[in-house]
Amino acid sequence: MGVTDGVVQSRWLARRAAAWVARQRDAHRPFAQPLDGQMKARLEPYFDARTLAPVRVREVPRIDPPWPLAMIDRVRELPLDFDYLWGITFVDTILVATDAVSEEEQIPNVFHECVHVVQYTHLGLVGFMRRYLEEWVTSGYSYWSIGLERHAFDLQRRFSDGAAPFPVEAEVNARLAVPF
Ligand SMILES: [Zn+2]
Repeated sequence: MGVTDGVVQSRWLARRAAAWVARQRDAHRPFAQPLDGQMKARLEPYFDARTLAPVRVREVPRIDPPWPLAMIDRVRELPLDFDYLWGITFVDTILVATDAVSEEEQIPNVFHECVHVVQYTHLGLVGFMRRYLEEWVTSGYSYWSIGLERHAFDLQRRFSDGAAPFPVEAEVNARLAVPF
């Protein structure tokens, strides 16, 4: 099968992937914590309080490549560049890999994942997965070329560089208003 062979397969894959994300979210959520005071203070100038309130973070030693990507890898025998992951977001529940991220990197890392929370809110769960997977496929299976990732990294860089606070929700809404 090919994941680029038509809209139907793409939608099927997005729905399967979204169901997997929903299961992961529910499995990790009971073990995840609200943002701690320091993290919240750093993120609040950039994010609406309604974005941050439901966010929960779970620290784990490492994160394995996500199922939808592992499945495509098996089908197409692709060399994945997902050897390790430092964070992953399941709707409003964030996993961070303590083995992959130093303590100083933790705040920018969670900032990045919160950008994905905003993207999920804008696109909906299935819409997010569909766009994420299609951007990944059409970019030749390069993680670094996925538009949703590039935007999260762009904003993360501005945050890390000490840019004056900017509203992430407005940035994401403007970016996602452009069709991909
Ligand atoms: Zn990301």
